[in-house]
Amino acid sequence: MEIAKSIQEIRAQVAALKAEGKRVAFVPTMGALHEGHLSLIKMAHKHADAIVVSIYVNPEQFGPNEDFSTYPRTTESDLALCEKEDVAVVFLPDTETMYGSGKKFFSIEIEELNTYLDGGSRPGYFQGIALVVNKLFNIVQPDVAVFGQKDYQQFRIIEQMVIEFNHDIELLMAPIGRAEDGLALSSRNVYLSEQERVVAPSLYRALSYVEQQIKNGVFQPHLLLKHQQDELEAKGFKNDYLSVYSLDTLAPVQELEKGQRYVLAGAAYLGKTRLIDNLIFEI
Ligand code: AMP
Repeated sequence: MEIAKSIQEIRAQVAALKAEGKRVAFVPTMGALHEGHLSLIKMAHKHADAIVVSIYVNPEQFGPNEDFSTYPRTTESDLALCEKEDVAVVFLPDTETMYGSGKKFFSIEIEELNTYLDGGSRPGYFQGIALVVNKLFNIVQPDVAVFGQKDYQQFRIIEQMVIEFNHDIELLMAPIGRAEDGLALSSRNVYLSEQERVVAPSLYRALSYVEQQIKNGVFQPHLLLKHQQDELEAKGFKNDYLSVYSLDTLAPVQELEKGQRYVLAGAAYLGKTRLIDNLIFEI
């Protein structure tokens, strides 16, 4: 496994793989790798001949009161996991490499897709992600890139960015990797106390319950969602959002229609940990 730290190195590595006729898949991450990330790498292997993983905690996607400085950084064990998963190259840039030190004159604005869900609660978050992913796509130039459904809004924004910015990259979405009790795996789960970890799967349970009720014929789920939010609050969560959204526009949907696909998504704080989760379903 090669480790590339500079843009020159990663470009040379990818060029060499492509010169061998290999189809290159890219899995961008912020490190602190867990089984969820590894499932993306495994999916990448099914669609490509060589895998590039990037590990970079992108400061541009953290708000001033968010956890950039405390975000878990476990590079050594991440590299061991990548090696085990037969990754060809790990791109490990620093912030000087990604952003340089000069004044910046460009940013990426995102319209409607950024209005709700995390876009509504975390100003600048998806602009930061779109910027870094755009740069990473230009640097790595993979044939295919894999993202997780765990961050569905991120996937949808990048999907649209690929179309509008004409990136010649096929996108794949991997299902959400979960712990046995249903909790969506996340690098941030290490922040949970023992007690919070026991309560944390309630968010997934609330989503599953709502999904079941919708499938049973509740097509106006507003009260149902409100009730589940109250129950989560009673368990100690501080709700951000819990709603059904259009898969395409990411706008909230009040009245569901048969034959349509939706994303039911929730975000809530448990202590200082922000948990997000979602289910994609068809009625
Ligand atoms: P992150 O390191 O959190 O930026 O995530 C890197 C990639 O892994 C993103 O495409 C995430 O959506 C994906 N990911 C994170 N957690 C999970 C999970 N539990 N299941 C599937 N994909 C995940």
